[in-house]
Amino acid sequence: MVNGGCSVCGSSEVVYRRRYSGEAFCRRCFLENMVSRVRATISRYELLKPFDKIVVAVSGGKDSLSLLKILYKIEKDFPRASLIAVTIDEGIPEYRDEAVKNAVKYTGNLGIPHYIFGFKEFFGFTLTEIIENGIADIINLQPCTICGVLRRKALTLAARKFEGTVIATAHTLDDIIQTYFLNVLRGDTRFTPIGIRREAEGVIPRVAPFRLIPEYEVVLYAYFSDILFQTHVCPYAERSMRDEIRAFLTKYEEKFPGSLFAALSSFENVYMRSMQKDMKCRMCGEPTSREICRACEIEEKITQRLKR
Ligand code: SF4
Ligand code: ZN
Repeated sequence: MVNGGCSVCGSSEVVYRRRYSGEAFCRRCFLENMVSRVRATISRYELLKPFDKIVVAVSGGKDSLSLLKILYKIEKDFPRASLIAVTIDEGIPEYRDEAVKNAVKYTGNLGIPHYIFGFKEFFGFTLTEIIENGIADIINLQPCTICGVLRRKALTLAARKFEGTVIATAHTLDDIIQTYFLNVLRGDTRFTPIGIRREAEGVIPRVAPFRLIPEYEVVLYAYFSDILFQTHVCPYAERSMRDEIRAFLTKYEEKFPGSLFAALSSFENVYMRSMQKDMKCRMCGEPTSREICRACEIEEKITQRLKR
């Protein structure tokens, strides 16, 4: 409990004080405020349209279940839009099994159609298989790189099956800033703002309705909404470069609240100005900044190794 009243209703039951804005919230007003902020983000960036068939990427973690819950509320304002949930199972025993179970339970409670696709179905191998047989090391890629890039591709393939018009992911402000930093550290300058709707022929746009919400607020939302938290941690998480960046940025934001918003605005001012037109991948036709997209490149390398 924090001293002082809720900035919205005056209740003395304050559960959260937002340091970067100075507002305080009781539980109910915080939950409502999160929905309003996501609604405002959607309208500010025109992320969704009234007739959209929205494919929500539901990993089964707290972020994606929170997103599903909030979109379920917001979608009621758009009676001609529809929601479906898609889970991509990359094949990490225990960790993903638990997440899938949570996703099945949660989508069932909300009555949202839910479909699960495995890496095996799309690519012919699971993530664990190619780590355990040494291929990930041979092609010199971290598990998270393979997992992230191929999950993204799998999600697009799944969304095409349902003729989805937009893919919504639960990337938070923190995720987006981490990715921008990772891109800078890799020397990659050919990238575009993440989670903003960009239309192009034959492409399913991807949007991130949590792009202006810090990760810890999503955690709080999940906690106060009784959303299930996972007990298993991904066994490959600690090997990721993202983890290092996350630790640094979390510490920095704690010390200097509002830094993540400042970083978002600096990065995006530059990217919006220098945005280049996407090319299409020669193999799969998806938008990319190179001749063959990263997903096709990784898939090809693994498939070649598996054939040997
Ligand atoms: Fe995949 Fe890495 Fe996330 Fe594990 S931590 S699910 S390997 S991206
Ligand atoms: Zn491709």
